[in-house]
Amino acid sequence: MEAGEFVSRFPSFRGEKRKRKRIPGGRRLRTRSFHLTEPMITTADENLLEALIVSDLGQPPKRGRQPFWLCPFHDDRNPSLTLTPDRRHWKCFGCGRSGDAIAWLMERQGCSFKDAVAQLGNQPLSPFPRSPRTHPTLGRGVDREFDPDWSRRAETLSGECAKALSDGAAKRARVWLVNRGLRPETLVRWQIGYNPQDATRHGLWIERGITIPWFLQREVTAINVRRPSGDDKYRLVKGSSRPGLYLGQEIVPGRPTLLLEGEFDALLGWQAGRDLINVATLGSATARPDRTAIFQLITSPLILVAYDADPAGKAGAEFWRGATARVHRLPIPSGKDITEFHQRGGDISRWIRAQLRLAGYRPV
Ligand SMILES: [Zn+2]
Repeated sequence: MEAGEFVSRFPSFRGEKRKRKRIPGGRRLRTRSFHLTEPMITTADENLLEALIVSDLGQPPKRGRQPFWLCPFHDDRNPSLTLTPDRRHWKCFGCGRSGDAIAWLMERQGCSFKDAVAQLGNQPLSPFPRSPRTHPTLGRGVDREFDPDWSRRAETLSGECAKALSDGAAKRARVWLVNRGLRPETLVRWQIGYNPQDATRHGLWIERGITIPWFLQREVTAINVRRPSGDDKYRLVKGSSRPGLYLGQEIVPGRPTLLLEGEFDALLGWQAGRDLINVATLGSATARPDRTAIFQLITSPLILVAYDADPAGKAGAEFWRGATARVHRLPIPSGKDITEFHQRGGDISRWIRAQLRLAGYRPV
């Protein structure tokens, strides 16, 4: 029943996997990477989550039409943790936490996403949370390992660097950013800045270069610096941590998400496609999602991974494809990443529209 409903919502997945489609960028590409493997969907075990919770908490003390357990995540006196009608998600009416089987394992065992997936024997995630708009997990259950004092200093520093981006000394940095297709309003919105020289500022050692602050809700959790030269192009300010996704706070629950490799690609994708799709990045192809990132992605029915066409990008995309059936790898139509695609005259917004249409989403 689930699979039938799924297929009817995604008619284009049926029988089209070998068909050639024309996509923006001019080249003909096979669309094989878009098909959802039906066996993965039909073997989804509706009893999996309940069995998992029973093995953890025991039989539910309260059971009417729905089972209710005492919630292990808050001081629960009256059983308030239950399963959603599709039995693929758990939800606590007391503390508001919720998630699927993977989130349960990660929460309860403190294990990684990958370990949770391995424990579940690669059972697929539920592709469609029933009420994505009211999904209460986003913005909650977030790890706050960073130091609030560091965060305040980083915020001040990042603000100063953002102002300095309009100074004469930052001209080369501005030209570099504009050549990547980034518009001034995008740079302002995400507080992209410039640090003119290696220095200790507000107690933080920061190298010369373009500054990219990471935010979690409103707090700065990291500052990444794009250096003008050197082998390591990027350098994180000491004390940075990058929980969750860059641009993750803009994620609209229930929408598909486009995952790109780095911050500048993500900014370009966000600028072109934010009305169509969530756009975010883990910061690199080798980074793996932590719990916060999983919570940010949990309501996305479709995750399009468009990593660079190089070995690291391929390995990163393969990781995602192995992690959940909701992930589809997108080849970049031309160039190694979407910045090159844009620089060669590609239309990112049109490309995103075409990919969503291929995946059965009506263009917005
Ligand atoms: Zn609770």
